[in-house]
Amino acid sequence: MTRLRFAPSPTGPLHLGGARTALYNWAAARAMGGTFILRIEDTDRERSDDKWLPTIFEGLRWLGIQWDEGPDVGGPLGPYVQMQRLPLYARYARALLDAGHAYECYCTPEEVEAGREREKAAGRRPMYDRRCRELAAAERARLVAEGRKASIRAKIPLPGTVTIEDLCKGEITVSHEEIDDWVMLRPDGIPLYNFACVVDDLEMRITHVVRGEEHTVNGFKQVLLFAALGATPPRYAHIPLILGKDGRKLSKREAVTNILEYRDKGFLADAVFNYITLLGWSFSGDRDVFTREELLARFSIDDIGKSGSKFDEEKLLWMSGDYVRRLPRARFVAEAQPFLRGLVPDDAFASATGFLGNLLGCYQERVQVLAELAGKVAWAFGDAVALDDEARGKIEKESEARAWLAQYAEHLENLPLPPSFPSDRSAADAAFVLPTPPGTAPDAVASPFAGPSRLEHDARAFAEARGVKFGRFVHPVRAALTGTTKGPGLFDCLFLLGKERALARLRAAATG
Ligand code: GLU
Repeated sequence: MTRLRFAPSPTGPLHLGGARTALYNWAAARAMGGTFILRIEDTDRERSDDKWLPTIFEGLRWLGIQWDEGPDVGGPLGPYVQMQRLPLYARYARALLDAGHAYECYCTPEEVEAGREREKAAGRRPMYDRRCRELAAAERARLVAEGRKASIRAKIPLPGTVTIEDLCKGEITVSHEEIDDWVMLRPDGIPLYNFACVVDDLEMRITHVVRGEEHTVNGFKQVLLFAALGATPPRYAHIPLILGKDGRKLSKREAVTNILEYRDKGFLADAVFNYITLLGWSFSGDRDVFTREELLARFSIDDIGKSGSKFDEEKLLWMSGDYVRRLPRARFVAEAQPFLRGLVPDDAFASATGFLGNLLGCYQERVQVLAELAGKVAWAFGDAVALDDEARGKIEKESEARAWLAQYAEHLENLPLPPSFPSDRSAADAAFVLPTPPGTAPDAVASPFAGPSRLEHDARAFAEARGVKFGRFVHPVRAALTGTTKGPGLFDCLFLLGKERALARLRAAATG
């Protein structure tokens, strides 16, 4: 049975690197029909804090990474939090001591440090000098009598070599001399990472481990410990770090420190998921966008790249925009709702075919992240609109503009424009689906209300009757109605704004 795990330490929120590690382990488990486990590695008591757990869980869930066994969902091989497994580590330590694969060390931290310095001065690696490795019984008794408490160290067999058949890096070997007699269990009974990790990978029957290459050195210690326990280690894949755009270590400025920041900025989870997948793996030479099903049909740990991939926020933004464009209208409206709080009342979201669906629909191709929406659609609410400098300029540079705006307001009085939101305009919005495709005939839809193409047709006739070029006429009108010079089709905007507001704004600009 294939079993993979993600084993975060609760020392902070889920960051980009952690999310990628989780994603690859999840994808490998799913692709192989295996089990995905979440395990909390909280034995570093100084750095761990349970307050991070809900954020980590939420980050994973937001990305759609679900675990089959874990602290909250339970499972047959729990508990899944290391601090709840201390008796197990004590048992393993005892067994390793008895079998001669570990030894008790009575050195104080100062003595360990002094030993390291001596090793360094002698031109050797600054490691523990192994002074407790072969302690005579009398010496041990003396240290115990002094009241010293033992930590338990791994007894690295000397000489020898250890090899990892790494699924990403290939075969890598080091000599045992390079490996410290590392501490497995502290005097207070709390295990160190490498020890708890091996005991748990063994007990939880983990078959594959995908993790960052900073853990390669730990991998050697872990493989040796599996050997001491007479067990087979999991298959390891130590994957390259995520790099910044310049090819150096990814900086905090470039990527978020909490994956949920992307949610709060309005990136779609599927897009972030898709993008993270590509930080070390590729779907095919010519496709970057794919569904989860397509990913799982293809994903294999063996295909994770050997060289570091660069994080590129531009590409993530592009991908988010691509996902936004392809959302069904109703999903898009639902996803937008949290970003429009305070601007749009919640009940307006009840129907994706109503006013809001039409308004947002005009922006679906124009935003990359949903947080852009509020600023872009704000013009459509409120009786008045503030004109930006460019918009003001469009009115000021045409000597006749104010007269046109006043006359156009008079003219629109007699057209069946829909009423302004929040009046009930559902009949109008149900009849026309915006944005209006170019070239739509004015009478394409039978409705008592004038739709965008009829409004455009009518405006052309209005300008022509006054001998004004349509191109010159539309700029001041857009400025007066929306306060800006950019945006969706002008007559989509006029339709959305509705009669009362359109007239009020045209008149305000005509006299302003
Ligand atoms: N708790 C370790 C970390 O957060 C896990 C390393 C591993 O996957 O073995 O880096």
